[in-house]
Amino acid sequence: MPIQLLPISLANQIAAGEVIERPASVVKELVENCLDAGASHIVIDIEQGGRRRIRIRDDGTGIVKAELGLALSRHATSKISSLNDLEAIQSLGFRGEALASISSVSRLTLTSKPAQQAEAWQAWVEGRDMQAEIAPASHPDGTTVDVQDLFFNTPARRKFLRTDKTEFAHIDEVVRRIALARFGVRFSLNHNDKPVRNYPAVSAQQDALQRISQVCGRQFTDPALAVEHASGPVRLWGWVAAPEECRHQADIQYFYVNGRMMKDRLLAHAVRQAYGEASGLADPSSDSMGQHRVPTFVLYLELPPQDVDVNVHPAKHEVRFHQARQIHDFVLAAVRSALQQAPSNARSDATA
Ligand code: ADP
Ligand code: MG
Repeated sequence: MPIQLLPISLANQIAAGEVIERPASVVKELVENCLDAGASHIVIDIEQGGRRRIRIRDDGTGIVKAELGLALSRHATSKISSLNDLEAIQSLGFRGEALASISSVSRLTLTSKPAQQAEAWQAWVEGRDMQAEIAPASHPDGTTVDVQDLFFNTPARRKFLRTDKTEFAHIDEVVRRIALARFGVRFSLNHNDKPVRNYPAVSAQQDALQRISQVCGRQFTDPALAVEHASGPVRLWGWVAAPEECRHQADIQYFYVNGRMMKDRLLAHAVRQAYGEASGLADPSSDSMGQHRVPTFVLYLELPPQDVDVNVHPAKHEVRFHQARQIHDFVLAAVRSALQQAPSNARSDATA
């Protein structure tokens, strides 16, 4: 075969393969866009586990008519314009790929009305060159992205989808993760026209526990130990469960870096080490953390954006800290001192 440029739609489908694994990945990308647009209420309607429909509506800034087609193009973003911006990223998105990718593997319509524009407009793409069609629409201030028939044209991907129940469970988890990151935003999640979750907005931090207990359950928040640790511009706050409480917890391991949920090995290691030490302190003869007990935590690390590189992985689950060792030790010290407050003997005396 001679070398040739791929049709745009095929290039987009290949890019979609990196980040759009299942309906939950679509929800993550679209909800992040709503947050970047400053939304205060995000409504997520799911049909049939997301395979039939994922519709996400926000009340954010909207997209002007002239930019609707661009929003659906690859490498088109309003969030960065230079390498400098990339080095101190504040928004959740910046790759300009999500809408192009999703629209190449579904039937997507984008409807939007910025407050300053009198009417709403709608865009969708058709054909190999991904040229957008535009038509007038009716919509309040904000944006709706309606994704139907995900993977209808990529049967290999479609085959890997699980039952509606399982796919919805993944979506529910994505919404929990994001809800724990943005206390000031209200989230409504509906499945097959039935309300499943409603997380009302709470004011950040002092009411954070309300949101966290709604998402994680009071069996986590009631006995949780507060973490609060700062050093210069770096701060870690949140809650952890005392080691002896962890066995009662479902999988609650949420670590946020500047409002972005991370699954980072360095951070996980620091937390595990603190728990390992604390388990030893509380009762040296007890089984160590491991086996049936895993650390249980909701933690927020805040540091200057230029001290961390989020452009490591397309799904942005990992970060690179410029001062990895210091961050590790900072997190270790913070969690260690929280776990040391645990009057673990007093607690078991009280319940004995
Ligand atoms: P990225 O988020 O990386 O910029 P996307 O493909 O997710 O790339 O979105 C492309 C652009 O479309 C965004 O930069 C933004 O300008 C616009 N956009 C997408 N979703 C929304 C939304 N819900 N509200 C306002 N603008 C949006
Ligand atoms: Mg995006």
